[in-house]
This record gives sequence, C-alpha cells and structure tokens, in this order.
Amino acid sequence: MADIHIRKTGHAGRITLQRPKALNALTYQMCLDIDAALKAWAKDDEVLLIVIDAEGDKAFCAGGDIAEMYETGTRGDYAYGRKFWFDEYRMNNRLHEYPKPVVSFLQGFTMGGGVGVGCHGSHRIVGETSQIAMPECGIGLVPDVGGTYILANAPGRLGEYLGTTASRMNAGDAILVGFADGFIPQAEWPALIEALETTGDVTVLEQAYQDAPKASLPAIQSAIDTHFGGESLGDILNSLEHDGGDFAHDALKKLSRNAPLSMACTVEMIHRLRGPSLTLRKALDMEYRFTYRAMEHGDFIEGIRAQIIDKDRNPSWQHELHKVPAVAVSKMLIPLGRNAVTFEEDNTMKIGFIGLGNMGGPMAANLAKAGHSVAGFDMADVSIEGVRNVSDAAAAAIGADVVITMLPNGAILRSVADEVIPAMKPGAVLLDCSTVDVESARAVAEQAGAAGLSSLDAPVSGGVGGATAGTLTFMVGGDDKGYQTALPLFEVMGQKAVHCGPSGNGQAAKICNNMILGITMIGTCEAFALADKLGLDRQAMFDVVSTSSGYSWTMNAYCPAPGVGPQSPADNGYQPGFAAELMLKDLRLSQQAAEAADADTPMGQAATALYEQFVEGEDGLGKDFSAMLPRFEKRGRG
Ligand code: NAD
Repeated sequence: MADIHIRKTGHAGRITLQRPKALNALTYQMCLDIDAALKAWAKDDEVLLIVIDAEGDKAFCAGGDIAEMYETGTRGDYAYGRKFWFDEYRMNNRLHEYPKPVVSFLQGFTMGGGVGVGCHGSHRIVGETSQIAMPECGIGLVPDVGGTYILANAPGRLGEYLGTTASRMNAGDAILVGFADGFIPQAEWPALIEALETTGDVTVLEQAYQDAPKASLPAIQSAIDTHFGGESLGDILNSLEHDGGDFAHDALKKLSRNAPLSMACTVEMIHRLRGPSLTLRKALDMEYRFTYRAMEHGDFIEGIRAQIIDKDRNPSWQHELHKVPAVAVSKMLIPLGRNAVTFEEDNTMKIGFIGLGNMGGPMAANLAKAGHSVAGFDMADVSIEGVRNVSDAAAAAIGADVVITMLPNGAILRSVADEVIPAMKPGAVLLDCSTVDVESARAVAEQAGAAGLSSLDAPVSGGVGGATAGTLTFMVGGDDKGYQTALPLFEVMGQKAVHCGPSGNGQAAKICNNMILGITMIGTCEAFALADKLGLDRQAMFDVVSTSSGYSWTMNAYCPAPGVGPQSPADNGYQPGFAAELMLKDLRLSQQAAEAADADTPMGQAATALYEQFVEGEDGLGKDFSAMLPRFEKRGRG
C-alpha cells in the first residue's frame, strides 16, 4: 500500500494519509505528492474543494518522518533535511493560501508535521480522540510547519506555554487556541466526507458542528499568562520557580525535559512574530531560520538520538536550562539571505526535444531561454544554444516532464514514439508539434495513453519566423490534463493555443486551416496574374482587394507580388518562408483525411494537384509557396 492515496472523488480532491502503523508520519515524498496534487487541483474546474483525512484510529499524523534526516545529518550532510523542510513549508503555505476550501479530519494525534498538513486549511475538524501538540522542543527543534503562526495568534500566553512545554490539547483546547475550527463526532465523519465529495459544498459542515468536549486550558489560562509573559525563557523559569504551586511544578517538569536552546528560540520567535501584520509566510520564514541551522548548530541530532533512535530519553543538550546565552538565540534566528525559504513558484520543467530542424531548433532555444531544462536530440548533428545534446531520442525522454517532437512526417513520428514512450516517466506528457496525418496522431496518442502518459497533438502555424520570435499558434488535440501541463510551454513558444478537443483534433484543425491557405494563395496569385493581363497596376489591385471583400491573409499579410504590401518572401526572390513542398505535404494530408472521412473537397483537391505539378513537375521545389504568382504570370490559358 502506498503511503498516501491521492485521487479525485466527485467534486473533491482527496488526500488520505495511509501509514497507520507509523502513525501516518509524513515522509518527504508524501509532502511532494500533496504539493503536486494541490498545484494540479488549483487549476482543475472539476475539483471544488479538498478533503484530507487519514487511516487508523490512533493518529491523523503524529509528525514528520525524521529517520532519513537523522541518518544524513549524523554524516554531516544537512542538505536533505533542509530540502525536506523547505518543500514541506511551501506545501504548508499552499494549503493556507489555497483558492478552494481545504477540509481536514483530525482524529487521534496531530502533531508537528501533522499540524502542517491538517491545521492550515479553511475547515479543520476535530473529534473525540483528537490530541494536538507541537512537541518539537523535545527533539531539539522549534514548533515549525507554520505552528508558530497559530501559537503567536493564540489568546494570552498560550502560544509560549504550548510551544515550550509541548502540552497536548484536546478538541476543545485546539479550537480555543486556533488549531481547529469545529468539533464533529467521529462517527459522522464518513457520511460527511461522502457529502463533501458529492456536493462540493462545505456548508454541509456548518450544520454538523457540535459543542466540543470541555477545554482544559481555560482553568490554567491566568497562571499561564502570569508565568509565560516574560521576555525570555529565563524570565519564565524564574517566575515558575518562585511560585511553588501545582501548575508551576507541572510546567517546570515539562520544561526540564526539552532542549533549552529550542525553548529560548521558541519564546523569542513568538514574540517577534506576534502582531497584526503576521502572515503564515513570515512565520515559516522565521521557523526555517532555525530548522536550516538545527542539525549543524542546534540540538536536533541529539534530540532525535535520545527520543527516537536510542530511546534513552536522556539527551545531552548544549545548554543548561537557565544558561542559554542571548547570542545563541540570535545566531539561530538571523535571516538566511539567499538560503531563505521562498514561496515563489518554480515553474521550470524538464523537457526532451526531438527534431531540432528549422522549426524545432528555435522552439527549443526559446524554451531554454525561458529557464526550462532542455535535452535535445536530432539525427543530424545540430547544436542549439542552451540545449543539452543527448545521444538518442530515449535519452532525451528519460526523466522529462514533457517530451516534444518536431519531425518531418507521421511515419517518423511513429518510429520516434516507439523509442520514447517506454523511456518516459509515468504521467509525463508527449507533445507532438509536427504536422502529421490525423491517423498517426491518434495512433501515437493511444500508445501513449496505454503507457500511462498524457499526449497532445499540437501542430503550429507561424512558420520559422514565428518559431524564432516565439509567436506561433498551437492547435491542440488531447486530454485536458496534458493541455494544462503544456500551457506554460505554449506561452513561451507561441502567442496563442487553442484546445480543439480530443487527440487528432489539433491535426484536423491544422490541415483544414492549411487547405484554406493553399486555396487562397492560389486564388490570390491567379487574380494578380489576371489583373496584370487586364492592365491593372499591382499596387492598385492590392489597395482595393486588401480593403475589400477579397481580402485575406495571403493578400494582406503575405502578398505574393514583390514590392507590394508588407515585406514577404516575394520581396526576397521567393526564398521560403513556407516552402511549396511543405504546402503540398499539408494539402496531401488534407485530402488523405477528406478521403478517410468521405468529405467532398473539390477546391482542396485542385489545390493539391496544382502544388503537386508545381513542386514535382516544374520548378517549385525549394521556393516559397507564394511563387505560384510567377508561375501563373508565365502561362496562358492553354
Ligand atoms: P526540418 O526538416 O527542418 O526539421 C526536421 C528535423 O527532424 C530535422 O532536423 C531532422 O534531422 C530531424 N529528424 C528526422 N528524423 C528524425 C529522427 N528519427 N530522430 C530525430 N530527429 C529526426 O523541418 P521543419 O521545417 O522544422 O518542420 C518540422 C515540422 O513542422 C514538419 O512536420 C512541418 O510540416 C511542420 N511545420 C513546418 C513549418 C515551416 O514553416 N517550416 C510551419 C509549420 C509546421
């Protein structure tokens, strides 16, 4: 069984922690999986809310899984722990700032890392068995995962008390302090979750809230406020030691177990954070200052050893309880500069790019320029700025989030697909931008789907100029998930993407568009040749038609007459632009599709025959497709 079960059910994005034997302790991979799901669901219109729950009676989540942190940290390798915390805190913040409701069901223990997952959403539900705590000072850490945000906002000095003593809260306490929103008897949770999934509407919760079991903190709140109101840990200890009552005795006992440096820093952090401008981001930033240094300069490694590895419960802390120097606290909490936790999105992807020709080359270069990591392969030995060359197509596909192909035709696409699909990671997207027949596009999509991949056919218009300038138009067929993943790449390589429907529809749109283009170019060239013979000046012809009902892209933007209209290949000796043979390729694809679909396309058929004659029977090969004009010019009717 996987540690976490992520799926969509009805209108809900569903996350279930399922490591009950480990009290659902949160691994690094679980953090990454939660974050990735949240990112995807934020943009998914089918998902109206998120529901997070956990298997087992004992715990929602009793903390982070720190075994690997300990193992790497004892070797002096602090990078793993820092990366874990960094990504975990970003996930915590995403839950807090999420654009849709996030509902969590917190049975049993919810501690440390569990608080980070369960206590930052919009609807935090507790039940009879709930016990919430921030016990980090016991292992030489400080309350983190955004815990200090809740503690700093808690009434009176409850934050300082709960953060340093690690005392547990029942459901009533958790609501009072701000770790939870409402109590609902646990027997009702399964039906409520089902209702949330079916309706996507959180108002079902409001009707289910009941009075929570009595909180225990109000009875000791005034003692807490008296003793935990000092400037520092030392003040708190002094105050408690001069009291002699039961509360003070109990509190001192708890404090004597925990790491002095951690507790001193916790008090300082809560003091610095408390105030009206506090945000979760600020709290996480402060916490990361400590956790970043916790293994190297704090008591974290010793704390884990004593509590979890050797279980001797006899840690040897760096400082004595009363003797934490103020400078040690300051050192743990100085800003981290460029190492600080950040919440900006890293939207860069790993891309494999196959086919680096006239179109693919500049497209790949633009992706690299935008910061994506691009591994490229072309049969011809080409090198593109910013693109890392690899030895074959499969090598470009390994580990890639998206594999892009820009190849001459459907047969080559199919053979490249055979190579790359087995090498691609599950869930990755195969994005073909070549112009190919609809049948090949659909066959490749089926093969990719069977291998657990998303696939898109996304042919382009805009030519080499558009590929270089990053202004292509993409006509896209395929599933929505793949489309959403590829959208940021379309935005880099082009100025417009249109999702045309399921697989093959992008190619369908492309060949229909280019059939119109071929037909209109022939019509425009014919009309210029006729105008010549009628003695009509080409400029006058352009001035009339470009502003009359005969206007078209071929007349207005790509005029086939040299010296007339905007700059076009006609002004450059009909150097392509868009080569006549490529137009012939697209027209043939249109006729192949028309035949398969039994569509009557007489003009498309005639245009295909004319370009065939021009490219294969005359001198059209290698010329721009607008060179039809000099061809007609030379000919009479016979
Ligand atoms: P191109 O011939 O310049 O590039 C194709 C590249 O694919 C070549 O570099 C070739 O070496 C490489 N290649 C061929 N087989 C390969 C294989 N098995 N593995 C790896 N690489 C392989 O063509 P292009 O102009 O870049 O066009 C690419 C696609 O874009 C075509 O489908 C074309 O119809 C379409 N298209 C082109 C234009 C244009 O104006 N050029 C416009 C729109 C669409």
